[in-house]
Amino acid sequence: MTARLLFALSLLTVQHLSASAQRLEFAPGAQYDARIPSLKSVTGHDFGSRVTTPEEIIRYLKALNEAAPDRTRLIKYAESWEGRELYAIVIADADRVRRLDEIKAGLRRLSHPASLSQADAERLIKELPVVVALIHGVHGNEISSGEAAMAEAYHLLAAQNDATVDLIKRQSVVIIDPMQNPDGRARFIFQNLLGQASTPDPEPAAAEHDEPWPGGRSNHYLFDLNRDWFAQTQPESQGRVKLLLEWAPHVVADLHEMGGESTYYFPPTAEPPNPHMTKIQAGWLEAFGRANAARFDERGFAYFNREVFDAFYPGYGVSWPIAQGAIGMTFEMASARGLAYRRQDEATLTYLDGAVRHFTSAITTAATASRNREKMLRDYLEFRRNAGAGMTKAYLLPIGYDAGQTLRLVRTLVNNGVIVRRAEEPIKLDSGTLPAGTFIAPLSQPAGMLLRNLLDPQAPMNADFLRRQESRRQKRLPDQIYDITAWNLPMLYDVECVGVDRELNVKSSAVDAASVTPSVTGEIALPDAIVGYALPWNATSAAAVIEALQSGLRARFLNQPFTIAGHRFAKGAAIFRSPDNGADLKSKLAAIAARHGAEVVKLDSAFVSEGTSLGSNQVVALKSPNVLLAWDAPTSSVSAGWARYVLERRYGQSVTAVRVNSLNRVDLRRYDVLILPSGTYAFNADSLRRIKDWVSAGGTLIAVAEAARWAARETVGLLDTRTELRDGAPESEPVAGPSGTIKSDKPESAGRTSDFTRAIQPVREQPELTPGAILRVRLDEDHWLASGADGEIQALVEGTRVFTPIKLDKGSNVGIYAMKDRILASGLMWNAAMEQLPQKAFLIHQPMGQGHIIAFAEDPNYRAYAEMTQFLFINAVLLGPAY
Ligand SMILES: [Zn+2]
Repeated sequence: MTARLLFALSLLTVQHLSASAQRLEFAPGAQYDARIPSLKSVTGHDFGSRVTTPEEIIRYLKALNEAAPDRTRLIKYAESWEGRELYAIVIADADRVRRLDEIKAGLRRLSHPASLSQADAERLIKELPVVVALIHGVHGNEISSGEAAMAEAYHLLAAQNDATVDLIKRQSVVIIDPMQNPDGRARFIFQNLLGQASTPDPEPAAAEHDEPWPGGRSNHYLFDLNRDWFAQTQPESQGRVKLLLEWAPHVVADLHEMGGESTYYFPPTAEPPNPHMTKIQAGWLEAFGRANAARFDERGFAYFNREVFDAFYPGYGVSWPIAQGAIGMTFEMASARGLAYRRQDEATLTYLDGAVRHFTSAITTAATASRNREKMLRDYLEFRRNAGAGMTKAYLLPIGYDAGQTLRLVRTLVNNGVIVRRAEEPIKLDSGTLPAGTFIAPLSQPAGMLLRNLLDPQAPMNADFLRRQESRRQKRLPDQIYDITAWNLPMLYDVECVGVDRELNVKSSAVDAASVTPSVTGEIALPDAIVGYALPWNATSAAAVIEALQSGLRARFLNQPFTIAGHRFAKGAAIFRSPDNGADLKSKLAAIAARHGAEVVKLDSAFVSEGTSLGSNQVVALKSPNVLLAWDAPTSSVSAGWARYVLERRYGQSVTAVRVNSLNRVDLRRYDVLILPSGTYAFNADSLRRIKDWVSAGGTLIAVAEAARWAARETVGLLDTRTELRDGAPESEPVAGPSGTIKSDKPESAGRTSDFTRAIQPVREQPELTPGAILRVRLDEDHWLASGADGEIQALVEGTRVFTPIKLDKGSNVGIYAMKDRILASGLMWNAAMEQLPQKAFLIHQPMGQGHIIAFAEDPNYRAYAEMTQFLFINAVLLGPAY
């Protein structure tokens, strides 16, 4: 006979710290099957009594899977950069687990309904479970959700005679991902343990709560994985998206933590919603919100809705699922950032408090979905049938100057579950003809809403919301935009994308991710060449050249246009001369070019029919650069992480990350490039002198965003231009008194309100903030920093930096923002920025002695999906040392 155990999940808690000294139970009154292992039996500690490590979480999932193999499936879906495994556990009743593959096939048919008959659809809706994905801990320091995840799985498997659990078992399949970011969680736990007192210290400023740089929020490359859903630059995101595309969940709840003074947040979401979210989806958010509210009211848990967390940006765990037709939700719990935290109201918030509330919302969500199974499936099917419909019928992506970038963009779309086809014949449009091989992304498809999010030139915000923000800006209150307002990938990749407003009748074939991978399997055959080989310069060839240089091949570079034997190199080229290299040049280069998908042109003669000669002094020798990256405080961790990722993983360029405080210990002469990620540095005069001497002796210093602003300070003196205040005055100019600055020579026509408005304008005010928009930048195509790029590119701009263009005798403005009528490519820019930013500097080159200072006004490596500005960054790293 089975011993039934009345098992309150939280027998061992940090009771002595709890203000009410009342034990919090996950599910009061629940009875549990003793055959299902408790956390304590597997790890030695109870739920909520210790911050469970990533390894313990996996061990527990495996134990649950072993104890209930008939009702669970354990899926390893990714491996983190630091080698940790990412698992999801699928929980369903035994009959469903037995037929799981058949059910998955049915879910796929429902999510790809093009050829689904109404009769089949009805049958599927009758038979299929609703799929609920509960995903946790995308931010590694938001710890309580991982604890809740284990309790959710335990509860669903072990609770007996529980009507809610029985309902969930009857109607749904639940997928629990306990930890989307194990590297971040491990980092948090390590730092927390280092700082830990003998008993958990609730003092908010205690070392155990106070994470040193870079904190546990991000993954190994310091990315915010909750912004990476569509770009999928990180393995954790790649695996997770693949898993969700496979299971096509109807509900996705993403569980987070926020500041310890808060309560609990669940939908309805804050404004603005993603512009493509349907009314039906909004209705479901309201329904789930009300159900959670009812349960929270019963349990006496405080909560709020609508205030803060929007679902506008499609790269969140809430909005990406919405764009796929699911009901995506963010849940946020106040964080104890450890085991106990003293709030301002003197109550003690515990880790267990967080776990219990997350458990409550997660189980309530699964129950709400189960209660509404049929209607949810019906609405989901309707969404997937009609997604993306609108005036624009398809987007066309012709292969451009850099074929690799087009392929990379198409592969990203395919990895998001978007159906893309390749034209097998030319496409005739009113504006001209696009060649065969052009990619076609039809909008009327199940992932059409996500596609519109990614390729529409603009994601509109509702007018009421914008008016409110405009009025807040007038009062100098911050806007309520939670993230960026533009992310258009073709713009950021500088890949042509043409919208067509009629159905295309073109012979085409479907593409999969493998068929749009730039690299070629095996070796490409290179013909013998007398003089050598040339690679037309672009992002794709740059990665190949970096590998070639690291493998010992020698290359030269010409940034001017030239023509040899009828082949036009319009934007410069890397040249591998036979006499500079060994006999293995051909085979080595062939293998490298194939890996990167780079174009290689053989040169049998160096005779140039047009343009600069290959023997010209303008041809420079490239070297494999030794690159230093400033790391640790005061750098912005994302900026440092993005730079490191773009160098190491996107371009294969090795880089040495050195903590800012240790830079003085480095023999700078060993390095060609020093990168200062965004941050306000505080080098003393000696350190600054050392850096300037190194630059003068030939070093290339790259300053990014806030580092560029710091470099432009008069007292720093690295960059001979200034950043501006809102009125255009240099930021480093002494402050004028308030009375002296408010003056107007204009005749007064307005009344007292206007006087009043003028009188309250702040002095020495920062420029207007741009909330993450894509702006057009004009490049000086003659400058080597712009090699391989078009005369006009798009850059992601976020913040308040305005750089006065540098004077001609000091340096070059390689990139400047376009004129007012053209500056905004996508997103939102307030009026004052629209007035001030046109023709201000985006990319500055300032020679210093034998070296260079290169300043980017904005982060060129933004989230590692600003491909074109990343390429300019690589130009700086690779070409700086050559010039
Ligand atoms: Zn979070």
